[in-house]
Amino acid sequence: MIISVASGKGGTGKTTVAVNLALSLNGNVQFLDCDVEEPNAHIFLKPEITERHSVSIPVPKVDEEKCTYCGKCREVCAYNAIAVMKNVILIFPELCHGCGGCTLLCPKKAIKEVGKEIGVMQIGKAGIIEFINGKLHIGESMATPLIRAVKKNILNGKIVIIDAPPGTSCPVIESIKGSDYCILVTEPTPFGLNDLMLAVEVVRKLKIPFAVVINRAGLGDNKTEEYCQKENIPILMEIPFCKDIAVSYSKGIPIVDALPQYKIYFRELLTNIINYVEEGKN
Ligand code: SF4
Ligand code: SF4
Repeated sequence: MIISVASGKGGTGKTTVAVNLALSLNGNVQFLDCDVEEPNAHIFLKPEITERHSVSIPVPKVDEEKCTYCGKCREVCAYNAIAVMKNVILIFPELCHGCGGCTLLCPKKAIKEVGKEIGVMQIGKAGIIEFINGKLHIGESMATPLIRAVKKNILNGKIVIIDAPPGTSCPVIESIKGSDYCILVTEPTPFGLNDLMLAVEVVRKLKIPFAVVINRAGLGDNKTEEYCQKENIPILMEIPFCKDIAVSYSKGIPIVDALPQYKIYFRELLTNIINYVEEGKN
């Protein structure tokens, strides 16, 4: 079963929910940190990393002996990663999405693909949790191939918790697609509500069952509750805006370790989701 944890906005407590959910289980759990531009679940889970793998995308390399500067490759590249002048061809690997179109369509077979490392994937263990994350190199923009590489480690029969990137763009969609359930974490502020509404549109489009967890409940107004009620979206948990939780977060201590009663709340959250998903399958 794959449960992704997402949020329309950064800093809402998405990683907090994902980490504590994984820690509330007694085993058989994989944790995937797909927030590859800024992975931070390791700060709380403190995994022992045992494997590191380079992740590359194929980028074109032109053999100028064969190239006639016809410009066909520039025409097919939707990402402006190729410039062709009279007697010069330039490739901009940072803009290349590795689609392979230019290689395929070059009439002179002058292009071959070479690997360009965009980041690393790390695999390890955090106690009984199997931990995998991706780290995109600074300056790289292609997060989705790295997220795909991380997700290839998903094993059948495990409970898989995915910490998705914030926002509603391609990396989020790549992270949450295929999930059995998605938790949208928000905070009760106007910004939180605005970005929650965008995230709701995305999960609805992807047809993933979802519910909301409100973090820092009590901080702002009750417009998030009103919106969820109007849209028939269940609120499965509210984590209060409280000093003890903020202090444990600032020290990199998961809530379930600092305040053990929360283990029961996170287990309840998980049980509700599992029951919902299992009922849906029957
Ligand atoms: S399509 Fe091939 S031959 Fe034409 S400019 Fe590009 S690399 Fe050169
Ligand atoms: S592989 Fe695709 S994105 Fe990259 S340069 Fe070629 S056409 Fe453009």
